Amino acid sequence: MNFNNVEFVISAAAVKDFPGNGLPEIAFAGKSNVGKSSVINRVLQRKNFARVGEKPGKTVHINYFLLDKQCYLVDLPGYGFAKVSQSEKERWAKLMEAYFAENRIDLGVMIVDARHAPTNNDITMASWFLNSGCPFVVVANKLDKLKKSEIVPNLARIREDLELPEDCPVIPFSAEKGTGRAELISCICDAAERKQKANT
Ligand code: GDP
Repeated sequence: MNFNNVEFVISAAAVKDFPGNGLPEIAFAGKSNVGKSSVINRVLQRKNFARVGEKPGKTVHINYFLLDKQCYLVDLPGYGFAKVSQSEKERWAKLMEAYFAENRIDLGVMIVDARHAPTNNDITMASWFLNSGCPFVVVANKLDKLKKSEIVPNLARIREDLELPEDCPVIPFSAEKGTGRAELISCICDAAERKQKANT
């Protein structure tokens, strides 16, 4: 798959906006500011494709990017930003429930902060992915901010707190440095191939 060939498709605000052509979907989730846009940009080796540092507080959207005309990278709206209004939170929940109810996910990618214990929102988000039964990986981002001695215990804590099954990878990642990109790309390619095979 050519990761340089990528185009923006749609900012979906409701089910009717989701593309309907059955291509594989790789869904990215994470709390606001965890570096979800930066991780997507790093996967694509682009500076500003998914927007970095976007302020929450406007309408909640799911952004679809088409990768090499073969699969969608789906940028789910971030969560856990304290200053978000109740109505915004409700919009988030309604759109996410609608998205998960459609059973469209071929690989869930959840981004957490490698420095910290997962938040309660992270734990809830991981359980959505795990309960949906889709293949799932966790990206532990901002690894460059960790001391070497912190890496192993922090990754173990993430696995334990999110109650991940043994076969669920936790990928040490730095959007800043590029660490972990090859492993994440290989998970994305495997998921896309599985779906393509199932479709034929
Ligand atoms: P989003 O809200 O989850 O999309 O987060 P952004 O991609 O906008 O990133 C939030 C902030 O974290 C920005 O200032 C990024 O430069 C920074 N950031 C993202 N990834 C990394 C990383 O791997 N290492 C470091 N040091 N900073 C990062």
